Amino acid sequence: MKYPAAIQNLIDQFSQLPSVGPKTAERYVFYLLKSNPEKIQLFSQYLSNLKKDLKICSQCLALSENDPCLICSDKNRPETTLCIVANLQDMISLENTRQYQGKYFILGGLINTIENIRPDDLPLKKLTERIKTLLAANTNLEIILALSPNLEGETTALYLAKMFKNPQIKITRLARGLPSGANLEYVDEMTLGQALKYRHTV
Ligand SMILES: [Zn+2]
Repeated sequence: MKYPAAIQNLIDQFSQLPSVGPKTAERYVFYLLKSNPEKIQLFSQYLSNLKKDLKICSQCLALSENDPCLICSDKNRPETTLCIVANLQDMISLENTRQYQGKYFILGGLINTIENIRPDDLPLKKLTERIKTLLAANTNLEIILALSPNLEGETTALYLAKMFKNPQIKITRLARGLPSGANLEYVDEMTLGQALKYRHTV
């Protein structure tokens, strides 16, 4: 016996989300069935607007409501440090540590030989331009490679450190002590804040 299509279709959709199995998906749908219509209306409104109201910041490549985003357009944030992160989640995690005041750049991925993600697949031209602009306005620049301490993060960090080797640029990495193989987005704010504070030069 199958569920009516209205239920089964939603179960199938939820099942495709990361870490959601069919049983959990089923629970989500039955929870929604019991919710009041206003709540469901709001849920579906947020869902259908998810991509509609977002832009990509032309300076840091973050998803944002504005271009440039709030961080890039914030004159109080010094342009002498550029923190390179893999994705928006990592940027938000670093922001939540309240230990960092500079600017960001989002790679949108990491070099991964198994999944065939090569340096050419990353926005390195855009990153080079961004670094050039920052160097034109400031004599020195610190680039923080805030990448996860796993194989992909290490490979990408080595690649970038070599690529941007320049006497005007100090390249640093997050301090050791982060669990090896970890994903930055799952590291607690305290540990991440400490790793940022005690970062070291490459
Ligand atoms: Zn931005």
